Amino acid sequence: PSKRGGAWASAYVGQSKLFGTKPVIANHLNIPKPPEGEPTLLTWDEVKTAFHEFGHALHGMFSDVKYPRFSGASVPRDFVEFPSQVNEMWRTWPEVLKNYAKHYKTGEPMPAELLDKVFAAEKFNQGFKTTEYLSATLLDQSWHQLKPEQVPDATLAFEAEALKKSGTDLPVVPPRYRSTYFSHSFSGGYSAGYYSYIWSEVLDADTVEWFNQHGGLTRENGDRFRKTLLSRGGSDEALNLFRNFTGKEPFIAPLLKRRGLEVAPPPEAPPTTN
Ligand SMILES: [Zn+2]
Repeated sequence: PSKRGGAWASAYVGQSKLFGTKPVIANHLNIPKPPEGEPTLLTWDEVKTAFHEFGHALHGMFSDVKYPRFSGASVPRDFVEFPSQVNEMWRTWPEVLKNYAKHYKTGEPMPAELLDKVFAAEKFNQGFKTTEYLSATLLDQSWHQLKPEQVPDATLAFEAEALKKSGTDLPVVPPRYRSTYFSHSFSGGYSAGYYSYIWSEVLDADTVEWFNQHGGLTRENGDRFRKTLLSRGGSDEALNLFRNFTGKEPFIAPLLKRRGLEVAPPPEAPPTTN
């Protein structure tokens, strides 16, 4: 009757040593049909999504755990987007990019200046975007930290007070969602978890930094990521998995740099733990 839109990864069979199952993972990506006689081309966003979903697929396929409960992407909400976001980095990695980013008529590689423009555009308006998002995450927290008997009837008054308390009552940057239509917070499965997107991105940006500092796209680096993190699924604390891979605590500076929000020299990185 109808087909689901968008893109997603599914585990039709999850890996488990207990049941002796091997993973069966699928990626789905809807792409508009090209006009008659023209080739199917991907937009930059579609390329990003394809790499993103493949990151979920790797999480499922490399899973090497005993219990199905902890298999692959069976991890906490604020960790599940981390491996997929990390995988997005490879789409701009020079060795990878030159394999697919070619002009469809001339075969010319994507010019470096064009790629620079893409990177520059990603930093546009990040001050506003980051603030409106954080404002909504803090509002989400304010609601869900109430006890049932504390939930007020005066929704908008509570919201105004909560924004004031969190320091985000900024008339020019309203929260991305107001309480009255904040479906993530009240019915979308992100109750008290709307922060997950940016938390995953803190880990993601820090991991990209790790790859940059350790020689990038090498077999050794990939094996390390697979062994310490991708293969572990949810069988250990998410933060432990991150620490086992990077050897340190998460650090916010790489995310600020990515968003073009770095205004002063970053604070000193936390000490290495192993
Ligand atoms: Zn995802």
